[in-house]
Amino acid sequence: MRVPMIAGNWKMNTTVSEAIELVNEMRQGLDEIDNVDRVICPPFISLAPVKELLRGSSIKLGAQNIYFEEKGAYTGEISPLMLADLCEFVIIGHSERRQYFNETGEIVDKKVKAALKVGLKPILCIGERLEENEAGRTEEVLTEQLSSSSARIYYFSGLILAYEPIWAIGTGKAATGKQANETIGFIRQHISKQYGKGIAQDVRILYGGSVTAENIAEFINQPEVDGALVGGASLKAAQFLSIVKQTSGIRQVR
Ligand code: PEP
Repeated sequence: MRVPMIAGNWKMNTTVSEAIELVNEMRQGLDEIDNVDRVICPPFISLAPVKELLRGSSIKLGAQNIYFEEKGAYTGEISPLMLADLCEFVIIGHSERRQYFNETGEIVDKKVKAALKVGLKPILCIGERLEENEAGRTEEVLTEQLSSSSARIYYFSGLILAYEPIWAIGTGKAATGKQANETIGFIRQHISKQYGKGIAQDVRILYGGSVTAENIAEFINQPEVDGALVGGASLKAAQFLSIVKQTSGIRQVR
């Protein structure tokens, strides 16, 4: 059973007080919708105050990154155990982390394992660069990313995938619904071949890349797309609410 999900990646935006203000603007509207998983991923320092604010709410909380060691001399890092106390989800392998912080497939895989070990649900991001897309190498790149960071057990443990073509992130140039559907269909087929049809039918695969209130319907209307990972538009309460509301109206549990 695949419950649709809309997750907001706030990236390195909002001070603690701005995060609180933003949650206060969205909370009531988001709480009125119950057939879509609504997840917000503020910066680390806002997780605790936002968790407090969301007491009694059905909105779920996620982190944007994690370190793979449980504790120790890793100055500045945040461990899986620290996060497990605060949130349910964690974004792993976002292209910005792969690009700016040199996260390799091996590191991403370690992070996924570390998250699952403490019961956190990873939202694992995969996606191709523009030049890879233009060279017709999308499927090859995704296959490699999936094989270096996936295992049967991951899917049983609640891992969520986000297909985010890098050329569509923060550019205002979203993929088309048809493109997202075809590529997510390919990802599901790949999982089916590797791990079986049952697992492939259960895993939620989101689309991410310049999703807005204006284009969300195009994605949600596609049979393979189970929701969206939203960056820029998740920082505007009215936009994010509209994205969730439209998803709720279009998509039922599959
Ligand atoms: C993202 O950060 O995962 C993302 C998809 O960003 P945007 O929606 O701004 O393109």
